[in-house]
Parts: sequence; structure tokens; C-alpha cells
Amino acid sequence: MGLRFLNTLSGKLENFKPINNGEVGIYSCGMTVQGPPHIGHIRAALNRDVLVRWLKYLGYKVTSVENFTDVDDKIIQKQKAYKKDWRIIAQENIDKYLQVCDQLNIERATVYPRASQHIEEIINLVQGLVDKGYGYEKKGDVYYRVRNFTTYGRLSKKSIDELKSGVRIEPSEEKDDPLDFALWKAAKADEPFWFSPWGKGRPGWHIECSAMSMHYLGKTLDIHTGGEDLIFPHHENEIAQSEAATGQQFVRYWLHTGWVTLGGEKMSKSTGHFLLIDELLKEYRPNVVRLYLLKTHYRNQIEFSRARLDEAKSAYLRIQTFLSSFKELPDIEKPLMLEEFSEAMNDDLNTPRVLGIIYDLIKKGYETSDIDIACTVKYYLRILGFRDESTEPPFESVSVTLKEIIKKLEDDGRQNILDEIKDELWKMYGNFRRAGDVFPGMVDLILRIRNILRKEKDYSFADYIRSRLADTGIQIQDINLDKSTYRLEVR
Ligand SMILES: [Zn+2]
Repeated sequence: MGLRFLNTLSGKLENFKPINNGEVGIYSCGMTVQGPPHIGHIRAALNRDVLVRWLKYLGYKVTSVENFTDVDDKIIQKQKAYKKDWRIIAQENIDKYLQVCDQLNIERATVYPRASQHIEEIINLVQGLVDKGYGYEKKGDVYYRVRNFTTYGRLSKKSIDELKSGVRIEPSEEKDDPLDFALWKAAKADEPFWFSPWGKGRPGWHIECSAMSMHYLGKTLDIHTGGEDLIFPHHENEIAQSEAATGQQFVRYWLHTGWVTLGGEKMSKSTGHFLLIDELLKEYRPNVVRLYLLKTHYRNQIEFSRARLDEAKSAYLRIQTFLSSFKELPDIEKPLMLEEFSEAMNDDLNTPRVLGIIYDLIKKGYETSDIDIACTVKYYLRILGFRDESTEPPFESVSVTLKEIIKKLEDDGRQNILDEIKDELWKMYGNFRRAGDVFPGMVDLILRIRNILRKEKDYSFADYIRSRLADTGIQIQDINLDKSTYRLEVR
């Protein structure tokens, strides 16, 4: 079966058919750049990345647009608090975000427009809505008259009256109806502003996404993505603005990413309840974070958990150890289980099922050492956006380090040492072919080899072992050089 998505608009799984054959336009609501990214932002970006990679794999030409909200109440508050220009605050956080995306191998969007760069389009759109009777001005603010848009609430499946009961009115707002929302805000003192037909002001939040998405992708978008928390009111308002202005359907497929929760609550910058991705990347490799996030379907919520991250770490280590046991992994023409893999990806990007296929292959691979399995796994990991580390030794893996040391002993003609450890090695070799992971005995064996080398005054080889072990996260501290005792510190 072909590609299909669960469309938030219909609530159904729908076959995907873009407007123009072979081309797909995607708009993704990006960050409000008031601070550095947390894992919730990165999850949304990663899901967009996997979507784009799969569409490209299927042969589509993809244009993806991801905005930065750089003019906003919270950024203006920070400007006041830190006495720093809002443009600098925005730029610093954009840099940080893109740097983290690069680290995680998230492909760059085609374009990253900012609200402040599209004021002209925004003003034109607001003016068009005012002309059509959907917008009205009150003391320099311009509001959208929600009741004039009869299908309002279609995306969030809420009736106008139901919505009305939940709306709060800010004391400063003079709206005709509590449901109405701001298209344009009059500038207060010390705030950034632009000249408009309604005086000095700045755009409301929702209007920028309508203006920028239609500017780059046309009146009707193929796919719009964003966090599920944006469905109401942000995306509902985007639809109301865009469809009122153009008289055409705004978005064909709405794809929403589940929250990342922490202690059962949504992570959110505005509540201070979040985990910075930067902190996480100090502890876990980017591919591990990717594996962790892809283990959950993009629509489902993830309760952030270090235990699950550690599981992902072991799972990734197992994959990488298997792949790196082959000297070379050439591109494979006929990957194994391709039909199952494609079917899972086509089924609304079912990454948990895809990972299940990969784990099954790895299990078989450890039993058979079949190179076609390794080439297939490498092929699928690439489609899922994992950085290719198949030729690198997994630095956490002591088993690979041990293999390298044995290889060096052979190359250096240290047959005496090889003879001395022969029996233990034989036992262990069976082990690491099965699991490819760290075994307590392995570290001991490596240290025994190092002690023999030190006794033979081959300090350069001994130091090589120390540094290779350090790469795996194990530090050796020699306590008593004469007696060759040492302490291990495992990071
Ligand atoms: Zn948006």
C-alpha cells in the first residue's frame, strides 16, 4: 500500500496525494526563539526530518519551510530583563537550535523564515482580512472576528460555544467577542514596531504562519506539521485566517507530534518545566537520542525517562557493535525485508515497527554473521536519519577495544602474550560474538595484557591501551607503579 497519514483534520488515515505530482510542500511551526531548544522542540524537528527523508526516498521533491517566531511577548520581556536587543536574543537561540539540529543529523529545512522578515506579507494579509470583514481595528490593535468564519473549530473538533467558555480576556484587550484573536498589536513603549495602516505595531503570533507558509508554498499546502499543543488555538487560527483570505483549502494533511512530558506534565519553556537538549547531548550520543525518540510513534506522547534512554543506548551499542564487526559495508542493492520496512514507514511513519524489524535483523545477524543483514541495517538506519557510524568503533564498547588490542598484538608479533591469554580469549570470543557488549572479564583481560606489557617495559603499547580504554569511558589510575595495581573509574 502507498503512503498514508493520519490527518488531524479528518481524524482518519488518508492516502497521501500531493497537489503537484512528484512535489511536496511542508510547513512546520518552529520555535519561538526566546531560549535554547528543549527536547520537545527537537522531537518535532526530528519527526519533520524523518518525514522529509521518507518522502525523498519515495522520490518526491520536497520544499520544507520552518519558521522562527522572533517577535513575541516573551522575547520582548527578555529584551527588557536582560537589556539585550531582541534580535540578538533571537539570533543566539536560532544558532543554538540549528547547531543542535546539525549534531542530531536533522536535515536543514529548505528555508527558515522569521516573522520579522515578512512584515510586508503579514500586513497585506491582515489588510485583506479587514477588507473582507474578517478583521477589525480597535485602538491600533486588529482582531479576527471568529464568528464570521463558520467552520471554526473543525481541526480541534470543538464548537464555537464550547470554545467560548474556555477563553480568557486580557484586561488590556478591547475585543468585540472573547473568541476573537489579535492579528496585529499596537506597539507599547520600548517595544519593537513596524509602520502599518493601523499605526505602529507588530504582528500577532498566528498571522505570521499563515503569511509565511502561503508566501513560500502557495495558498494550499500539502502538509503542515507542528506539536499537538498547537492544534488549538494556533492552527485553528491559521486555518481561519488563510481560508478567509484566499477562499481555498489551506492545508491538505495536518500531522501533529505528541508532547514530551516530564513527570506527567508537558515540557514548556513558558512554565520553566523543561529539559534542555544540550544537557542531554552531554550524556548521550545523537544517534542514541534519535533511537530513543523514534521508539515512540510521532503522534504519541513520550514521558521523558532516563531509563528508556539507557535502554536506547544499549540497543544502539548492540547495533553498532554488530555493524563494526564487518570491515566494510558496501551499498546493498536488494535490502532484506524491504517490503515490511516500506509498509511500516508508509503506515503513517510507524517508526516503532521499523525499529522492531531492525532489531529482528540484528538478532539474526549475531547468529549468522551475514553481511547482507549488516548492509541492510546500515541502509535502513540511513533512511531513518542516523549518522553513519558503522565504520567507527563504538567507543563505549570494550569488546571492540579488546579486538583491536589483539590485532595489534598479532601485528607486533607478541605471540608470547597471545599464548598467555589464549584460554580466556577463547572463552570470551564466544561471548562477544553473541552480545557484543561489555563483559566484566574483558576489562580484566585488557588490564592483564597491559600489565604484561608494562613488565616488559613496552610503555608505548601500555599507554595505547590506557587511551583506548579511556575512549570507552574507563579510566585507569595506577596507584602503585611497582606493584602494578590500579583503580578503574567507569564513567
Ligand atoms: Zn505556526
